[in-house]
Amino acid sequence: MTSIDYRLPQRRDLVTALPGPRSQALTARRKAAVAAGVGSSVPVYAADADGGVIVDVDGNSLIDLGSGIAVTSVGASHPAVAAAVAAQASRFAHTCFMVTPHEGYVRVAEELAALTPGTFDKRTVLFNSGAEAVENAVKVARLATGRAAVVAFDHAYHGRTNLTMALTAKSMPYKAHFGPFAPEIYRLPMSYPYRDGLTGEQAAARAISQIEVQIGADAAAAIIIEPIQGEGGFIVPAPGFLAALAEWAREHGVVFIADEVQTGFARTGAWFASEHEGITPDIVTMAKGIAGGMPLSAITGRADLVDTVHAGGLGGTYGGNPVACAAALASIEVMRELDLPARARAIEAAVMPKLRELADATGVIGDVRGRGAMLAMELVRPDSDTPDPALTKAIAAEALSRGVVLLTCGTYGNVIRLLPPLVIGDELLADGIGVLAEVVRELAG
Ligand SMILES: *Cc1c(COP(=O)(O)O)cnc(C)c1O
Repeated sequence: MTSIDYRLPQRRDLVTALPGPRSQALTARRKAAVAAGVGSSVPVYAADADGGVIVDVDGNSLIDLGSGIAVTSVGASHPAVAAAVAAQASRFAHTCFMVTPHEGYVRVAEELAALTPGTFDKRTVLFNSGAEAVENAVKVARLATGRAAVVAFDHAYHGRTNLTMALTAKSMPYKAHFGPFAPEIYRLPMSYPYRDGLTGEQAAARAISQIEVQIGADAAAAIIIEPIQGEGGFIVPAPGFLAALAEWAREHGVVFIADEVQTGFARTGAWFASEHEGITPDIVTMAKGIAGGMPLSAITGRADLVDTVHAGGLGGTYGGNPVACAAALASIEVMRELDLPARARAIEAAVMPKLRELADATGVIGDVRGRGAMLAMELVRPDSDTPDPALTKAIAAEALSRGVVLLTCGTYGNVIRLLPPLVIGDELLADGIGVLAEVVRELAG
């Protein structure tokens, strides 16, 4: 890839114990001002970030293996994105596309039509968050089909608003006591090769039979699925599972929605993870990696579906904000210039063998999986498949104390997930994975 001029030194460097005194002081202030319901994985406050590092308020330089949950794929302060944001903000920061439209929105829609799978006519709507994109994909599917039922899967994560809580599988912390939830959501078994041992065809047949029996094919508006599940544990369905579902959906007039909020924009080694399975969704939802850290989300789908919606039926005050659009256009340009899909594949090639080696050496890693720079290991009690969330937490905490920011996920809380910025340098990445390996070996006992 083209070499990158980083602004900050790309190295792990601890000058205090973590969290340092300034982070601790901020935590104390935060407790008195910020709602307890907002959690943070890491009790360290950011002061600066660039490439693969986050520098905290105490001057510690940490290796970022989380990208703010798959958002800062081009880095947290890419100069092209920063310049585009500054330039747009100095002209106009808002007009509301529903009042006085602007070119940036149209250009983002043109880019998304070109980048998403499928060569048919497409239409795009822009929003602010992933959950909002998912809500609107469901709105479109229901109006276009005149049907109500929506199919979601075990381990799914689609957001925290009312409809998306209903679509999300896991109760704690996402749903517990926040009901009642939106009706007409049906949950089906996911393909989870490590735990169900089924082929993609078998898992799809199981799911399809449940749709036909429990919902009725002609009552289903949409199937929504993450091509690789994110929060649920980086579960990669068995080959053929997604294709069989998509094929069945097409035959029965059911809208197939790929939630690519986490997997999109080069993360998995392709622009969209649907490409790995050769599927062409009717609607793709996008957010996270789209705009170099600025809040922007989108749905892009078949024109014949999206354009069934009457004017005024879709939108929002901030959706397609001009500054966020400028950031998205700059980020997409950077992804193309640096060929970040190829970079994600190179990260997989460098990291995957290390994770496999670790699995063979320790007996506490039941499964290693993922694609591109979306990689995970599932931690289990020694030589069993019993989830070990305590060990998982301990690994993330110990890695942090050595200067590596690691995220966990999974229905059972037992998955370490790796989501490095795609612009991370080889040496820094190797150092981060080295720390992870060292910590796993020590804690596996
Ligand atoms: C993060 C995520 C969402 C929700 O996005 P927000 O921007 O947090 O609302 C939806 N779907 C998937 C697959 C996600 O990973």
